[in-house]
Amino acid sequence: MIEVLRLGHRISRDKRISTHVALVARTFGASRLYYTGQKDGEMESSVCKIVSKFGGDFSVEHVKDFKKLFLGKKIVHLTMYGDDFSKYVGKIKGNVLVVVGGEKVPGEIYSLSDYNLGVGNQPHSEVAALAVFLDHFNKFKFPKFKGKLNVVPNIKGKKIFKKE
Ligand code: SAM
Repeated sequence: MIEVLRLGHRISRDKRISTHVALVARTFGASRLYYTGQKDGEMESSVCKIVSKFGGDFSVEHVKDFKKLFLGKKIVHLTMYGDDFSKYVGKIKGNVLVVVGGEKVPGEIYSLSDYNLGVGNQPHSEVAALAVFLDHFNKFKFPKFKGKLNVVPNIKGKKIFKKE
C-alpha cells in the first residue's frame, strides 16, 4: 500500500497545489492523501468529486498529528536536499508513506524519515517530485480506473465513455 502525506496546507495559498498533489497521488496509484495544516473542506470535496466521477478508491484525510501515521510504515520524504531517489526507489517495500512539504518542513521530518530523497537537487515542486517518484515506484505503469466517466484514449480528439 502506498499513501501520501502533504505537510502544511494553507487554504489561501495551497488550494490548487494540494488538489494537484491529491490528483497525482490517485492517478499514480496511492490510496490516500493525508494532509496537515489548515483543514480545507473545499479542497477535499473537489478531490472527492473527481473520484466519484472517474472512479477508484481514493480518500483525503486531514490529520493533526502526522507522527501517528509513521508507525509501521516506511517513510519516504521527498526533498531537494535528499539523496538521489533513483538509487533507492526500486528497493523500498511494504506500506509506504511518501511525504511532501510546502513552504516550510518541520526539521524533525528529516530524522523521522527512513529515506530523504531528492528528485534532482534543485528546488521545484511537490507535485512534480511526487509524480516522478511514484512513476518510478510503479515501474512506469498506471493503475486502471473504472468510473462513471471513462476516458477512451484518442490521438485526435476527446472521447469519454459514460457508464450510467
Ligand atoms: N526547500 C524545499 C525542499 O526541501 O525541497 C523546497 C520547497 S518546495 C516549494 C515544496 C516541496 O516540494 C518540498 O517540501 C518537497 O517535498 C518538494 N520538492 C521540491 N523540490 C524537490 C526536489 N528537487 N526533490 C524532491 N522533492 C522536492
